[in-house]
Amino acid sequence: MKKKDSDSTLVIEHYEKKIYDQKQLLEISKALNSTLDYKYLIDAILNICLAQLQTLKAAIYLAPDVDADHLILDPSHKGFDVTKDDEERKIKIDSPLIHHLEQKPRAVTVQQLTSAFHSDDVEYFKKMGVEIIIPLNAKGKVNGLLILGEKLNMSDFVEEEKDFLTTLAGLAGIAVENSRLYELATVDMMTQLKIHHYFQSKLREEMDRCRKKGTKLALLFTDIDKFKVFNDTHGHQAGDVVLIEVAKKLIESARKNDIAARYGGEEFCVIMPGADINDGFEMGEKIRKAVEAHRVKNPNGGDDLKVTISIGVTEFHANDKNNKEMIERSDKALYKAKHGGRNQTISLQQ
Ligand code: GH3
Ligand code: MG
Ligand code: MG
Repeated sequence: MKKKDSDSTLVIEHYEKKIYDQKQLLEISKALNSTLDYKYLIDAILNICLAQLQTLKAAIYLAPDVDADHLILDPSHKGFDVTKDDEERKIKIDSPLIHHLEQKPRAVTVQQLTSAFHSDDVEYFKKMGVEIIIPLNAKGKVNGLLILGEKLNMSDFVEEEKDFLTTLAGLAGIAVENSRLYELATVDMMTQLKIHHYFQSKLREEMDRCRKKGTKLALLFTDIDKFKVFNDTHGHQAGDVVLIEVAKKLIESARKNDIAARYGGEEFCVIMPGADINDGFEMGEKIRKAVEAHRVKNPNGGDDLKVTISIGVTEFHANDKNNKEMIERSDKALYKAKHGGRNQTISLQQ
């Protein structure tokens, strides 16, 4: 082949690769924008990195909450040997590393960073086996760090790969921000349960799914027993601690696709897609027993505190016209549990 021909073949190959990468990024962008589920999103970002960059190690650092002044390792990390110290390590937002990445929001190797300036964080990443760091950003701020280990073939990351990672991190940063805002808007700050409005729209959605696909659905309502007396005796602040800890029992007991929500005040609920009334009853008993066995540290000092809850359960009926009917049935079951002596689960078919 003449030199001119081989040059143009190389140029064509280069552009073909670029077009391929752009197509990949378009698909990735669609995938990242199709979910607001935070955990799912982070997992998707890491899996894309593993597949596209041919590495076995990928992890992401994110802010643990909105006001945080640092980033921490997300539990979704893949391939890195992670110790307890690694899990607790904080990367401060005002650190030299983050400042550097905010000035130059690009994928950069640990080696490049080491020769540019001294940073304890970079030294730490080096020891951890990190090869390349890519800042995630939204609204001009670094809101996460993507880190990758060495490639399978041990070769260096080339410029095209760094460009790819920089673009990917740009998309990921916005997707993470959107998902975080969505979470903030739909989660009750105090209990970490979903808010009332979210519960109502999810219940409608799940009931529609039952109608279309003939699947099952159970609904649970819980209410703390004699909570007015509890507040009057121990104070509202102790009441708040109880609410948080009872909510935690619901969250811990719920299955992956269940939706635990705060209906209002001290009334919580769980939507259980795919479950029938017996599964609902079992879940009710699991939560009720967990709360009954739990002791709450008294914020005023003194003996530990305890509460019980009553639970009403029902299931979807094909002739349920709207979510109100299902809610009313659960409420009726809950009323029976209260009148039957409290600290019990009652299921009601009709
Ligand atoms: P029952 O066993 O019949 O449910 O008796 P109860 O006293 O719990 O009655 P009810 O469910 O009507 O009482 C609700 C109480 O829950 C009243 C209110 O003070 C308390 N409550 C609601 N929201 C909160 C909250 O955010 N924090 C605290 N500490 N208490 C709350
Ligand atoms: Mg109540
Ligand atoms: Mg109550």
